[in-house]
Parts: sequence; C-alpha cells; structure tokens
Amino acid sequence: MSYIEPAPIKDKENPFESMMFRFRIASQILGLNEEIYNVLKSPDKQVIVSMPVTMDDGSIRVFEGYRVIHSNILGPSKGGVRYDNNVTLDEVKALAAWMTWKCAVVDIPYGGAKGGIKCNPRQMSAGEIERLTRAYVIAMANVFGPDRDIPAPDMGTGQREMAWMMDQYSRQAGITVSGVVTGKPIILGGSLGRMEATGRGVMITTLSAMEKLKINPYQSRCVIQGFGNVGSHAALLMEERGAKVIAISDITGGYVNENGIDIENAINYRNNNGGTLEGFPEADKINGDDLLLIECDVLIPAALEDVITIHNAGRLRTKLIVEGANGPTAANADEIIERNGIVVVPDILANAGGVTVSYFEWVQNRLGYKWTKERISRRSDRIMKSSFTQVYDIAQKYNVSLRIAAYMLAIDKIAKAYSHRGGF
Ligand code: GLU
Repeated sequence: MSYIEPAPIKDKENPFESMMFRFRIASQILGLNEEIYNVLKSPDKQVIVSMPVTMDDGSIRVFEGYRVIHSNILGPSKGGVRYDNNVTLDEVKALAAWMTWKCAVVDIPYGGAKGGIKCNPRQMSAGEIERLTRAYVIAMANVFGPDRDIPAPDMGTGQREMAWMMDQYSRQAGITVSGVVTGKPIILGGSLGRMEATGRGVMITTLSAMEKLKINPYQSRCVIQGFGNVGSHAALLMEERGAKVIAISDITGGYVNENGIDIENAINYRNNNGGTLEGFPEADKINGDDLLLIECDVLIPAALEDVITIHNAGRLRTKLIVEGANGPTAANADEIIERNGIVVVPDILANAGGVTVSYFEWVQNRLGYKWTKERISRRSDRIMKSSFTQVYDIAQKYNVSLRIAAYMLAIDKIAKAYSHRGGF
C-alpha cells in the first residue's frame, strides 16, 4: 500500500533498518492498515540509564544501559539483556522488535523488549558484574515486573546474572518475585530444559526444513557459527539426530574436520579451556569469516548480527540457512540468497525455542509448580513444529520467503489483537 514508505535501498546492514525492511515488505503484502503500521514501526518506550559502579580498584566507572519496549499488545514485554561493548540503542531497538515478532510467531502471550549494557564482561570481575547488574535492576525498577516486562539472558548474560536480577528485584519488592526474569538457575525457579531450549528449537526447525527440502539428516553436513549457548546445543542436538557437524567456530576462529567433529569433546574442551575453542586439537583451524563459505547442507549462524551480507552472500555454498542468532543476515543479502535458491529459516522462527521455554518458566513460577523436562521438550517441540508449518504454508500461499511469511504471521496476529484493544 502506498502509505507505507518504500523499502530503503541503503544501509541495510544496520539491524534496525534490516528489521524495518522486512517489516515493510510483509506489511505491504498483508495490506496492513496504516494506523497499526505506524504503531508498530516505533518502539513504545526507550529507556537509557547511566549507572555509576564501583570497580574493584576503588574507582567509579559509569556504564550506559538500555531497555527498549517495542510492544505490549499481546502481553507483557519479553526479551533478553545483552552485555557487550558494541551494544547500541539502534541494535537494542531492532532486537526488541524481533522479540515482538518472535513471540507472535510461536503464539505466546508476550510483547517484545530487549535490554543491553555497554560493557565488556570478559574484562570484569564477578563482583563488578554483580554490582552493575544490580544497578541496572534498580535503574529499571519501574520498567521490569512479572506482568510488565520480563528480562532473560542474551549474549554475555546467563543464569548467574538472572539470579542477581531476580534477587535485586525481590529485595526492592520485599517479597520473592521469581517470575520477574526467566533463564534463572533451576533452584531459584528456573525451568528444566531452558539452557538447551534455543538450540533445541534450532534443531527442530532444521529437521522440519530438511524434510521439506528432502535432505536426509543422516547424510547431511552441518556448519555452525558460534559455540555459545545456542551454537553448542544446536551442534550437539544435530549430531544426535545424525548430522555430521563439519565446522564450528567461536571468537577465536573456525575449526573444521571433514569427518565430523565430536561435539561433546568440543564442549568439554571449551569448558576446560577458559570458555574458548582455541587450540582444539581435533580440527583444522581456519579464519572465522571463511567458515561461512564452506560447502555444506545446513549453515547455522548462531553468533552475531549481520554476518551474512551483500559482500559474502553470493559465495555461500549451502542449501539451507537456519538462523540461531538474531539478525545474522543483513537485509541487503536477502535477494542474492533467494536468487541462489538457498532456503532461510528466519531468526524469529528458528531461535524462538528459547523464549518459548522462558514462557514455560514464567508459567511454572506463577503456578508455583515444576514441570518435568519431558513435558517441557514435548510442548516446545510441538510449538516449534506447528509454527514452522504455519510459516511454511504462508510462504507457499503467497509465494514469499519463509522470512517474509514469518513476519506476515506475526504482524497479522498483532494487528488483530490491536484492533480488539484499540488506541486512544
Ligand atoms: N535472548 C533470547 C532471545 O533472543 C531469549 C529471550 C527470552 O527468553 O525472553 O530470544
């Protein structure tokens, strides 16, 4: 529709622009009403805070933190908090919107949000990270809440930080509020299966896509970029399902073994090697950027945004890309990938297993009850499979990519919810 600005042609390597580019295309195909398009194109709330924190040497350093609430049309906003030196408000804005679409794709009753703190946790002590985390929760006292906005782990954060967030929020509230964050340690109300949930969802959607493409998992070769929580679990689960994982990578570079890497060995090596694969003896080392260009059946980027761009998209030698990370493909690469017949399972579907089990964690916290791991896996697998099928069917019906189909599924649901709720 003409009121929706045409998709921009420049700077689609900015994650927010990439997100907006796909959002616009999906909105145009849906014939979305202008009012709801305008509501969804800007985040509801953007909070920027400065947090003075005492460092171990007694000096005081001021850190900048963000929380962007993109939408709460479908429910309280949900999304992780990222600790990274390269965090920017624009990136957090894109990540928050992706959470809105992601929750809608898998049909869980949440809106979308994201947080970030500009810091380098690798160069900070546990005490410094704890003080920074508590300062962030104090600064976000009026933002967070189990019915308002619910943080979770993301890059640079995990169970430890979630425990501190839960504790700090609870201290301020004067009662234990376990449902204010997800991704907590099990003993504090964390859910069984949450750690591997994103990787598991990546595996389920990969197998679903392989079935459509008639790729036999037992004869497939898989390349995985990123060996953090998402990449390592996805690698392990793909290996369990018969795939040969021929290359993995982390910040230290790529590791290739054409005969297949033993993922359990790689995980053990990383765990006993200060958290990196540096020196992993069972593979040849290559440049991390070259890893993406290895010939394979499935490429799983599970690290950062914008790793597949106009600059390397034409040289990819895979049949299938499954986006374990948020935003790994810049919008300027979409056309090349499509033209070359590579199928992409987009981030807002492929990595939604994490937030799905976060939702189960929140439900268990509210019930004051614990589900078994089998129940969690069965339910999340069912959601991931049925979401894949819904997205696939839309893609077939409208002759669009799975990515645009996933945006269409999400935007349509949110538009319907908005039409019931109404504006001012
Ligand atoms: N940070 C994760 C994501 O990007 C999980 C969010 C959550 O569980 O709320 O999906």
